[in-house]
Amino acid sequence: MSIPVITIKDLTKIFPKKEGRRRVEALKNVNLTVHEGEFLILLGPSGCGKSTLLRIMAGLDTHTGGHLTFDTNYNPQKSSFVFQNFAILPWLTVAQNISLNLIGNKVPQKEQDERVKHILNVFELTTFKDRFPHELSGGMKQRVGLARAFVINPQTIFLDEPFSELDFFTAQNLRQILLTLWETQKTTVVMVSHYIDEAVLLADRIAVFSGRPGTIKTIITNELPRPRKARSAPFFAVEDTLLKYLSDEKHII
Ligand code: ADP
Ligand code: MG
Repeated sequence: MSIPVITIKDLTKIFPKKEGRRRVEALKNVNLTVHEGEFLILLGPSGCGKSTLLRIMAGLDTHTGGHLTFDTNYNPQKSSFVFQNFAILPWLTVAQNISLNLIGNKVPQKEQDERVKHILNVFELTTFKDRFPHELSGGMKQRVGLARAFVINPQTIFLDEPFSELDFFTAQNLRQILLTLWETQKTTVVMVSHYIDEAVLLADRIAVFSGRPGTIKTIITNELPRPRKARSAPFFAVEDTLLKYLSDEKHII
């Protein structure tokens, strides 16, 4: 039986009325358990609270009701976040942006240097290590975002639509690297997506959201064997199941 790393019970998030913004009930009665080592995707239409829930799990925001509990072995210092808009620091080089995540870590300097070197290689960034972000394409910036997240060998990684700003080929390439790292490092992955095909390609389980206030409509277990063949009948069957749940939602994909 897999260990429940994060347990969410009847979680609510209300953003109060503030500076011209109206009050928003972003999440209502959300129930979800994240299991150790799984690849979980939060899927749903725009504005249904996926990012809000991810940020709350990652400790970047707080909930206003219900309960959020962590396994005793969960260590927030060993979790990483990958942002849709990359969020890398413009005044630091590629290597410096990645190394920054190791600062304060008790790992000896030599091992830190080796980890940075290794992760630069994994994300094909070695020849770009001394470049600054403004010299990089979106795809290269997200390689840095992912490398920075993985350099700490995270227990848990949270990703918010990490591939939605990228071209098709770059996105596919980075999805494969992510899958390989997840499989080899046994990281727990929680990722937000609004693409059905991406969810079916990557996830063990898919939590389908309904519109505002966001709540989880259903959780689909995706048992397609890996490596997955995207254009196959069983793949389309899982997509159809998801579409059925999403079809009464507005603004889907
Ligand atoms: P999603 O990621 O599913 O597109 P979000 O979690 O970003 O949705 O947003 C859910 C709802 O909460 C939206 O209506 C959004 O406008 C609102 N919201 C998100 N962040 C804030 C904030 N900091 N202040 C006020 N409202 C917010
Ligand atoms: Mg979002």
